[in-house]
Amino acid sequence: MLNLEKVKSADTSKLWFFRFKKFDSETYLITNDAWKFEFLSLEDFDKFLSWNVEGLESYEDLVKKWFIKSDDYESKMTWSVALKNHFVWVWPTLHMIITTLRCNHKCKYCHAAVAPMTAKEFDMTIETAKETVDTIFYTNSPSLTIEFQWWESLVNYEVVQYIVTYAKERAFHLKKELRLVMVSNLTLMSEDKLTWLLDEWVDICTSLDWDEVTHNNNRAGFDGNSFEKVTYWMKRLEEEKLKRNMWKVWALLTVTKETLPKYKEIIDKYIELWQEGIFLRWLNPYWFAASLKKELSYDNKDWIDFYKKSLDYIIDINKKGRFFKESITSVYLMKIFYSKDPAFMDIRSPSGIAVWWVAYNYDGKIYASDESRMLWRMWDDSFLLTEPTWNPEQNYKNMINSDTCKISIQSSTLDWLPGYNEHVYKPYFGVDIIHNHKIYDSVYNPIKKDEKIEIQIAVLDYIFEKLRNPEDKKILLSWINL
Ligand code: SF4
Repeated sequence: MLNLEKVKSADTSKLWFFRFKKFDSETYLITNDAWKFEFLSLEDFDKFLSWNVEGLESYEDLVKKWFIKSDDYESKMTWSVALKNHFVWVWPTLHMIITTLRCNHKCKYCHAAVAPMTAKEFDMTIETAKETVDTIFYTNSPSLTIEFQWWESLVNYEVVQYIVTYAKERAFHLKKELRLVMVSNLTLMSEDKLTWLLDEWVDICTSLDWDEVTHNNNRAGFDGNSFEKVTYWMKRLEEEKLKRNMWKVWALLTVTKETLPKYKEIIDKYIELWQEGIFLRWLNPYWFAASLKKELSYDNKDWIDFYKKSLDYIIDINKKGRFFKESITSVYLMKIFYSKDPAFMDIRSPSGIAVWWVAYNYDGKIYASDESRMLWRMWDDSFLLTEPTWNPEQNYKNMINSDTCKISIQSSTLDWLPGYNEHVYKPYFGVDIIHNHKIYDSVYNPIKKDEKIEIQIAVLDYIFEKLRNPEDKKILLSWINL
């Protein structure tokens, strides 16, 4: 039984601030604000707390990881903390552009109402596209990503082409790094479009559920076989990209109730389609998915079970010699082992909303995130950063000075959120304030009620368990090139 008095009376002139939890019956896990971790046996944890470090096996590691103060710990640890939090220096970096509200699908889990294909009034105009690009290049990040987001970006293809061409010109003159990404259901792809997009170095991301029946059932409203189209174009893209030695196309899976028992088949299918990994995405139970909750959704326990089985299966595949990774696991591994945070949007403190990513709606309005503009489509404008002013400098000033921006930062910075700040996984997890706002009607949510944190804790527990097995650890580290 842990003696809390001993924890409270630990000598802070020798030990730096740390968080801890009993990991299993024989071990404690400790972490600190330099995002380091260490496992200690019950006996060693007791020695560590009472500064009885004589013969402590992990003494050197504890000094190296700044759990124990050394002469130069302040300068080194300060630098480490600053490097980890590099993302607070520039903002925003990821700019999502919604070139249209039209789509030729009506997916059951789509986050908001798509406009019918005939409703051309919901397309972005060239004038709005120009102002959007000018605003993006007014922001202070030296490295920018422009992502064409759903609704379906190939519907308003001329404006996509305009933005790509104009943004590249601006990037060249302003000496900024630019990455272009298109998220598309691929059903409107053609050979001409494919060639142009690859010539312009536009990365492509799509959605693929499994199996064919599930995919077509989830991704409804399409006049034809959506699964057949997306898998055809994924293969074509892979062929072309291999020829050109370019980045691979990648696909995202949305896990629905029907998917849960089929984890092996899904992973096998992704491998067959030459994917290097899979992103096991939790279904957000709002918008349309909320009304079909019974059909599509599941509880945390089911998803966690699905995640664990999938991770075990993927690790076994790696043991047999095929490199294949799980994306959300890789994000956590980067957080645990890299000197710089990977700045994954929802899983950081403060979260990326309003400061790392923003969304530009078809009409020029600027929102704090992709989900924020989807809330707008459901008559909730809570996360609007600014109306278009037709002046890029003014747009940027309005964005960063808006109450939405300030509240987003304040409510997602874990250091002052009770329960979150004390948690052993505080260095690695993050709150989703849009989820809290939507489900609990407040951006603040007690940690005990936070179902997304519950998932993150379970995932991190499982990753740390795997890291204790040398063979599994070697495989996991290979996913992040270590
Ligand atoms: S393809 Fe994308 S944008 Fe279109 S309905 Fe489906 S999820 Fe929504």
